[in-house]
Amino acid sequence: MKAKKVPMRRCIGCMESRPKKELIRVVLARTSEEGETPEVILDPTGKAPGRGAYLCPKTECFEKAVKRKAIPRSLNAEVSPENLDRLSEELKQYEQQ
Ligand SMILES: [Zn+2]
Repeated sequence: MKAKKVPMRRCIGCMESRPKKELIRVVLARTSEEGETPEVILDPTGKAPGRGAYLCPKTECFEKAVKRKAIPRSLNAEVSPENLDRLSEELKQYEQQ
């Protein structure tokens, strides 16, 4: 039997390809109201609908992604500094030591 192929995704911070399950997905949450700015959230299940991007669960990669404006670019959306702060806090829960 052939070995199962591991799905790879690229981290938008360090730009390295890693197995999808080692990365955390960020996704643009759908909003109920029209005209409301969509919030970028973490999607630990990787199953939320919508446009997503992947990050290593590391503050370092998150900060790199912020500096390169990779999150708004990947998601094709505006991301407020408050939203980035919340994401950063949330990501810390998944950070590996
Ligand atoms: Zn990374």
